[in-house]
Amino acid sequence: MSSTSPFSVRVVGAGVFGLATALSLAEAGLKVRVVADVEPGRTASGVAAGMLAPAFETLLDPPGGDALDLLLTARDLWPELAARLGLTLDRSGTAATGGADWTDRLEAGFRARGLRIGRVGRSEMEAWLPGLNPRYAGGLLTPEDWRIEPRVALAAMAARLAELGGILERRRLAPEDLRGETGPVVLATGADPALGAAAPELQGLAPIKGQILWRGDLPPPARVIRTEGAYVLGSEGGVLAGATMEPGRRDLTADAGAQAGLRAAVGALLPDAPPEGWSARAGVRAASADGLPLAGSASQPGVFLAVGARRNGWLLAPLVAKIVTAAVTGEDAGPWAVRLDPARFG
Ligand SMILES: Cc1cc2nc3c(=O)[nH]c(=O)nc-3n(C[C@H](O)[C@H](O)[C@H](O)COP(=O)(O)OP(=O)(O)OC[C@H]3O[C@@H](n4cnc5c(N)ncnc54)[C@H](O)[C@@H]3O)c2cc1C
Repeated sequence: MSSTSPFSVRVVGAGVFGLATALSLAEAGLKVRVVADVEPGRTASGVAAGMLAPAFETLLDPPGGDALDLLLTARDLWPELAARLGLTLDRSGTAATGGADWTDRLEAGFRARGLRIGRVGRSEMEAWLPGLNPRYAGGLLTPEDWRIEPRVALAAMAARLAELGGILERRRLAPEDLRGETGPVVLATGADPALGAAAPELQGLAPIKGQILWRGDLPPPARVIRTEGAYVLGSEGGVLAGATMEPGRRDLTADAGAQAGLRAAVGALLPDAPPEGWSARAGVRAASADGLPLAGSASQPGVFLAVGARRNGWLLAPLVAKIVTAAVTGEDAGPWAVRLDPARFG
């Protein structure tokens, strides 16, 4: 199929995978209709912290073994995408602070992988994070990990899609709604299993609930700060602190018990912050067996997948969008397509 002969494609899902893919398809000249049952920003994509963090994620929660090169490739697609959308990409870097054993181990991990990292003194760290635990001597700063503001980015993607003639429709689909579909369908349905009959691959995704905390009565940190068991960053005029990992759960209830570890880690970082005053939001991540997305053709003809982002949906979205667009248009999907091929689990 040629990008000069537009045809209709339906994308189910308006999270970051759905919107980034829809945008990429529209930019390739296709007529795109996005169907989603929830407003953009109200699913995992809008709850997320928006860190584009190939380095820290490789060290702290490596998906698919060591996928560093893949994650770095995805990150490096962001500057161009952000520029096209008129979005600010925060490239001021990510800091880390905590006990000396932890920061020493981290620094060694960065250096072993050839990732850039430097030492930061206590006064600089405290300027970035007022209220920092007085026992922490300083920490680390890497320019490798960046950030985007998720809800602003989702709104920009939806607006750009509309400018390109894309349609966003609010509706919940059942598998029978996809029967008789003549054009290609991209399923970007996150952790929702409802369309499993349309693509059996969706049944292999496991939910991981994530709760994230926010408060508006403390000064926003000047950049992302990682500590053992948590991160804090400035968002919407306050402090965002994340996030829990609750495998097997797909409910969106605020659960104080499950937040306990996160709250303790944030309490160690900011000992003077009152423990009350945090509000919680929850989202559900979808995880494949190897922690990497399913991007490309599904086993059902005409069905394509952009799902399974686990912790790195924001980071991976431009790469997934590129691979899925190439699969739909029949063009070369590039070297990472095999690693993310939905057929890799057999
Ligand atoms: C607390 C938390 C913090 C996170 N922090 C980060 C981070 O810092 N950096 C990062 O890269 N990632 C982060 N993530 C992960 C990231 O949020 C997810 O990987 C990503 O948002 C998944 O996007 P998605 O588009 O696949 O799914 P979702 O955002 O869940 O979107 C799914 C879409 O499918 C639609 N849908 C599903 N089923 C149907 C149906 N039957 N009919 C119609 N519509 C349907 C929904 O309406 C929705 O629009 C975080 C996640 C959580 C929970």
